Amino acid sequence: NTFESFHLKRELLMGIFEAGFEKPSPIQEEAIPVALMGRDILARAKNGTGKTAAFVIPTLEKIKPRLNKIQALILVPTRELALQTSQVVKTLSKHMEINTMVTTGGTSLRDDILRLHDPVHIMVGTPGRVLDLASRRLAVFDECKVFVMDEADKMLSREFKIIIEQILKFFPQSEPGKGNAYQSLLFSATFPITVKAFMDDHLYKPYEINL
Ligand code: AMP
Repeated sequence: NTFESFHLKRELLMGIFEAGFEKPSPIQEEAIPVALMGRDILARAKNGTGKTAAFVIPTLEKIKPRLNKIQALILVPTRELALQTSQVVKTLSKHMEINTMVTTGGTSLRDDILRLHDPVHIMVGTPGRVLDLASRRLAVFDECKVFVMDEADKMLSREFKIIIEQILKFFPQSEPGKGNAYQSLLFSATFPITVKAFMDDHLYKPYEINL
């Protein structure tokens, strides 16, 4: 298979090739077309499989650069992973007019507030700080159409789950009986009961990937 076969925007394909990716890894081959169709995904994937690009590529394809709103939120458990993930987003979107912001605990809230004066299309962060920004209406998610959670097994402790569910209350809400008004992509190395429960509560007919 090839990256061309996904019919991505030219600028995105350029970023992919410049990153040195020649062909999709197995998880990318399975996840990207399904995500592009708009389905929710629950994927079991370890580090080193190319899982980051598996959710970043379809996310980038869906962003409208001219809409200056947060259109995707990528939640991860640690600051280190937030920085790594945002680096992948920035590399792959190098030729796109897309702005990415990283926000995590342990950094200056004032800096985040200043950063939010400029357009942000994609936010990558840890749950506590993201909820803080959302609750103060500093970060607005009412145009956020993609919700990604990486290392979900590490994030869905009871305490974190409550925070994540509060964040999702700021997302577009669906009408009863319809699917979600946004798309969820969940990646996890293992599927503990916490992840299954979250899936049952928040994902709509998820496509499951087990590699
Ligand atoms: P990850 O599983 O997301 O941590 O990615 C592991 C490594 O694989 C990273 O260094 C990526 O840059 C690299 N990678 C991801 N997708 C591809 C691909 N399609 N071809 C070659 N390398 C890749």
